[in-house]
Amino acid sequence: MELGIQQQKSCLINILYRNTYPFLPLLQQIVFQQKIPVLAPGASAGYLQYNTMLLHKIRTKADEYYPEVQQIRHHIHANPELSFKEFETAAYVAARLEAIGITNISPIAETGIVALIEGRNPEKRCIALRADLDALPILEDNTANYCSKNEGVMHACGHDVHTSCLLGAAHILNDLRHEFEGTVKLIFQPGEEKHPGGASIMIAEGVLENPKPDAIFALHVFPHLPTGATGFRAGQYMASADEVYITIEGKGGHAALPHQTVDPIAIAALVITGLQQVVSRKSNPLIPSVLTFGKIAGGFATNVIPDKVEMLGTFRTMDETWRYEAHRWIREFTEQTCAAYGAKVTVEIPIGYPMLFNDPALTTKASSWAEAYVGSENVHELDMRMAAEDFSFYTLHVPGCFFRIGTNKDNKEFLAPVHNSRFDINEESMKTGMGMMAWCAVNALMEE
Ligand SMILES: [Zn+2]
Ligand SMILES: [Zn+2]
Repeated sequence: MELGIQQQKSCLINILYRNTYPFLPLLQQIVFQQKIPVLAPGASAGYLQYNTMLLHKIRTKADEYYPEVQQIRHHIHANPELSFKEFETAAYVAARLEAIGITNISPIAETGIVALIEGRNPEKRCIALRADLDALPILEDNTANYCSKNEGVMHACGHDVHTSCLLGAAHILNDLRHEFEGTVKLIFQPGEEKHPGGASIMIAEGVLENPKPDAIFALHVFPHLPTGATGFRAGQYMASADEVYITIEGKGGHAALPHQTVDPIAIAALVITGLQQVVSRKSNPLIPSVLTFGKIAGGFATNVIPDKVEMLGTFRTMDETWRYEAHRWIREFTEQTCAAYGAKVTVEIPIGYPMLFNDPALTTKASSWAEAYVGSENVHELDMRMAAEDFSFYTLHVPGCFFRIGTNKDNKEFLAPVHNSRFDINEESMKTGMGMMAWCAVNALMEE
């Protein structure tokens, strides 16, 4: 079979690409000038296609819009708002989207925003990009000139960064909308840090309808990796998280007359010790699980047996079936232990965030797109984390990929962890953040 001239060029470039991967920037320059599409290493035609021209344009625009995105981040960082109170932040995001020239903007879930960027043939596919808007009740302990002006509230989880990067990606994608087919849905959600999670409310209000996304992406800051690096993990990535509230009601009395009382402190000790078996004996050793009690409160004196003890904890796991079996076991063990000692008990386990499952096929593709964008040496495989993230709600409905961008500087500065009063980022990392969001969107739109 004879190959046409374009096919021959594509084949040649593909062979070159596979053998000259370390020289990708030079190759991209050659290809860019010749305007020939390139296939990813190991990819078949029509699959994992990425357009080198678009990559070049996205990278150039990320550099160009970096000062604008930096200003946006300074504004949001200086004016943080707590979960479900992001009124000013949402209004600011809507104003920025309008300034970019995006017209299809709607409020949702009281303090959330959803917006659409329509490319050519907008009904072909839809890819959603999500950022979270809320800050934490932490007193900032940094000295940068963009520090929180709202005392006791701080963007210590980088949600200001996620929102700024998504606004940067929106600007890039809106500029390029005539160069891709399909629709990009921008989701700015409230309340990631607080139950029941802004994601679950937005989904209930229809954020995943009209149009329904074919895939969804989100990024999160990661101070354990340097600027320019990205991190991915296919499959199970973050745990489900459910709070456990136990209140044991006994019968108080004199410490010297325990036989006339029902001692809730002694019973609470038995309950906590026994519940350790939910992980050590009941859980499949191959399923990560953790049960931690972070608070126990009861009593007030050496010589008084109190009426009541309260215990607060969290149960986390990576398996949705075992999650609900564990709830049942925690409840039954606690109720039966308390009954055996004559105490009343209430056990409340409000359902929290599900396990975050990164769609394996989508995540594998996204990490190969990242290899093209930041170089394979800057793409890392992440470990599982027993922390939780409400992006998991979206992944129950739509294939999702939640990835990380490195935010420290040369592994020497900006090392404070998230949820810490000293957390901050090397802002250059936002070039990677906004570029990767735009790059993932255009690649995912090109998928069949
Ligand atoms: Zn957080
Ligand atoms: Zn977060």
